[in-house]
Parts: sequence; C-alpha cells; structure tokens
Amino acid sequence: MAVDVEDASGYRGQADQLLTPSSSVELAALLAQASGAGTPVTAWGSGTGITGGCCPSQGWLISLDRFRKLDVGRGSAWVGAGVPLKDLQTAAAATGQFYAPDPTEWSASIGGNIATNASGSRSFRYGSTRRHLLALTVALMDGSVRTWRRGEKLDFPYAPLPAPATTKNTAGYYLPPEAEWVDLLCGSEGTLGIVLEAEVALLKQPAQILSGVVFFDDDALALEAVDAWRGVSQLRMLEYMDSPSLGFLRGPYGDEIPPAARACLMVEQELDGLPGEPLDQWLERLEHARALEDSWFGETARDRERFRAFRHALPEQVNARVRQNGFQKLSSDFAVPIGRNGEMLRFYQQTLLEEFSGKFTIYGHIGDAHVHVNVLSESERDYDRGRQWMLSAARQAVALGGTVSAEHGLGKRKAHFLPLMFSQAEIESMKAVKRRLDPQWLLGAGNIFPGGLESFQM
Ligand SMILES: Cc1cc2nc3c(=O)[nH]c(=O)nc-3n(C[C@H](O)[C@H](O)[C@H](O)COP(=O)(O)OP(=O)(O)OC[C@H]3O[C@@H](n4cnc5c(N)ncnc54)[C@H](O)[C@@H]3O)c2cc1C
Repeated sequence: MAVDVEDASGYRGQADQLLTPSSSVELAALLAQASGAGTPVTAWGSGTGITGGCCPSQGWLISLDRFRKLDVGRGSAWVGAGVPLKDLQTAAAATGQFYAPDPTEWSASIGGNIATNASGSRSFRYGSTRRHLLALTVALMDGSVRTWRRGEKLDFPYAPLPAPATTKNTAGYYLPPEAEWVDLLCGSEGTLGIVLEAEVALLKQPAQILSGVVFFDDDALALEAVDAWRGVSQLRMLEYMDSPSLGFLRGPYGDEIPPAARACLMVEQELDGLPGEPLDQWLERLEHARALEDSWFGETARDRERFRAFRHALPEQVNARVRQNGFQKLSSDFAVPIGRNGEMLRFYQQTLLEEFSGKFTIYGHIGDAHVHVNVLSESERDYDRGRQWMLSAARQAVALGGTVSAEHGLGKRKAHFLPLMFSQAEIESMKAVKRRLDPQWLLGAGNIFPGGLESFQM
C-alpha cells in the first residue's frame, strides 16, 4: 500500500511500500530483492531531516526503527541505527560518559545522524559525527552486509576531492586521499548503503560544566564577543541568536528574556583541570563585552537542560511558524572559514534586510562560522524570492571558501547546490563511487546529485 511521508522541513514524498525489517539478514535480503527487481529504496530514520532526504518519490521506504541494539561499554557503544540520540545519551550518562555530537534534535536516529554527518551545538569543540565513529555495519545493494572499522581504507581506485577550509562540511561524498570506508559512508545520505549499527566513541563526562545564556542590547557587541571568546579554554559551545530569533522565544519565555536584549550567545565550558575561578572570569568577560547584567549562568545538569530547552525551542518555534504559514522550510546550512565569518554575516544582514525585513531569523553555530538563516515565507512570492536568495547566499559561501552544507546534507531540496561547490569532473568522481556500490542507482535516489533519478540512469 502506498504511504505518504513528510520530513521536518515539510517536504513530502510517497513510497509504494513501507518495510520495517528487524534483522540485518532480513534487510540485506530486501536489498538483494530490490536490486533484482530494479526497485528504488530509501532509508527512513526518524524523519527529522530537513532536506527531503528520507522522502522518496517511489519504491520502498525502509524504516530502521526496529534496529534498537544499545550496548554501552567503557569508551564506546554499539548502537542500532534506529536508536534515538536521546536513548544513547541517557544510557551513556548512566555510566558517567557522553556521546560528543549533539545535533540538538534528540528524537533523530543514530542512523540518520551518521547518514547526514550531523553535528550541532557541541561541534565547536568536538566536530561532527564522523570524528566519533569507530566502526560501521552497513547493508549494500548487492545484498551483502559489511562491517568496516576505523582505519580500513577504500580498496578501489578513486579520484580524491578537495575539501573546503571550514570546520564542518557534509556536501557530497567525503573523498580525501587515503579515504576510509567509515568516513565515506558517514554523510553519504543513504545513497551508498544502509547503516545497520555503529560503534561510536564515548567520552568521560566532565565533572563540571559551566553554561551561560548571555544577552546583549546590540548585535555588534555579540559578534565582537564571538571573536573575543573563541580562544576560551575548553569552550565546547558558542551559539548565536539574533533579535528576531529572540522575538520567537519571547512568546514561551516572556519576561525571562531581558526586554533590552537584541542578541544572545550561548556558551558551555568544561571546567575540569582549569585554574582559577571560572565564574569570576566569565563576569570579567561579560563586563568587557558589555553584555547585559541579567544574563543566565549555571553549573548544574538542570541548568544545562534548561538552557538546552531554550535553545532547542527556537528551531521548533520557527518550524511551527513555517508549517502555520503553509510553506516548506527555507533554511540555510552554509559554513565559511572562521576568518570569513564577519563577511558572511554582513552579506546575510544586508541582503536579508533589503529583501525580507521582518521575515527572517539568523541563529546557530557561530563558533564554527555556521549559522542558519531561515526565510519565513508568507506568500508564494516570498517563497520564490527566498529560494533565489538561498542560491545567491550559497554562491557567496562558496566564493568565501565555504560549504553549501555543513551538517544537514543536501538531500533532494538542496541537491542543486552541489555544482556550485564542485566541478563537473569532481561530481563525476563521486558518481563513479556511487555506481560502484549501487550500479542501478536505486538507493536514496534523488539525494545529493541534482537532476533526480532519470539523469543518472545508465
Ligand atoms: C528542530 C530541529 C533541530 C535540528 N538541529 C540540528 C542540529 O543542530 N544539527 C544537525 O546536524 N541537524 C539538526 N537537525 C536535522 C536532523 O535532526 C538531522 O539531519 C538528523 O541527523 C536526521 O536524523 P533522522 O533519523 O531524523 O533521519 P531522517 O530524516 O529519517 O533521514 C535523513 C537522511 O538520512 C538517511 N538515513 C536515515 N537513516 C539511515 C540509515 N540507517 N542508513 C542510511 N541512511 C539513512 C535518509 O535516507 C535521509 O537521506 C534538526 C532537526 C530539527 C527538526
């Protein structure tokens, strides 16, 4: 029976059938059957992706929901692809450990996180998912199941690809010289194989973490503080919200947000082994940066959770508004080299104020020169102009040496950005890898490569 699906961006798809295998043998047999019949196959994690990657136009949708293995050991855990990020974090915390990537949407599956090389709020210190993978078990379109450990290199010839000088990137396949299987599969958006389970690294939970939500009455002061605080020891989070973003949160948070606040930075610092009085040091920093006195600081897990909920409420509020307006989400995921952060922000602010005054928000991972711009369409015209704006901003990011996707992937909605960043020859090099693993181009059809399924049939 046909099933209609939608991801968190509002992108819709339809599959001829939804399948929910519960073992690798069952799933591998399905892939072999699909290969025999030429049936397209798309993997579904939790549907929190925002590029349409999990929404097919035809064929089978394979849910990984029943892959729920969760074995936590010392320094690592084996996790089934369908395990929600929250369950992994909870199980790790019970052993005094944590999983470093925090792509903030805790209902996302580990398989989806791996497929998109997700990162999020702690990437400032810990980078993206790829860095924390020790092994992957993957089902391939020929019906085989392979486990690759970190260190195992690709065993076929390929043309290596350049990478941008950004701290995060997930646009296209990761193909440096001497590429490893684990790294190639991570970020391949369900186009090369289906992740069944993974061994991920766990770190010892720091004994003390200081968290803060720092408000400013002037956006320029917040941006100066970003540059000043980048070098703070053991800072693991440096996040930004502009004034319209705070406007969204004034609904649920009311007077708790200082009325004068026009921008905000969120920080987390691991304190273990640091000399001095960290809170006093922050008070000095706040004074120097001319931050508002009624900023929030805390040292307990409860404070951290309160601030996390505050941060996460923003994309949720924005997504709710997008749904209410009746348009698909229009959000950017560009990152630039750290030194070009100011230029990119100036581009955003100038062009958005000209075109979308009162209809945009800027927030996100500013420590990585990676903020998300959301254009809040109120009409078809806004939506069309928003799409054009996204294209011009993607060109700008590439011109500054950046990436068209830092953490969400390209999926179907952003596949047209790929040629802005890679030459035709480089895209051919990616396609050659795709054909090696999926000769009929059945897996995750329409993701990453522009032009859809048809343009790649051989
Ligand atoms: C409110 C909100 C906040 C978010 N914040 C962040 C953030 O801070 N950082 C960030 O990186 N992302 C963020 N995201 C995006 C999203 O959570 C991530 O992209 C996440 O990794 C998607 O996981 P999922 O399980 O929902 O995957 P899905 O949406 O189901 O799928 C995403 C892609 O992965 C593929 N896929 C899924 N499972 C597998 C598998 N087992 N094997 C192979 N391919 C698979 C799908 O085919 C699709 O291409 C946010 C989303 C929301 C709604």
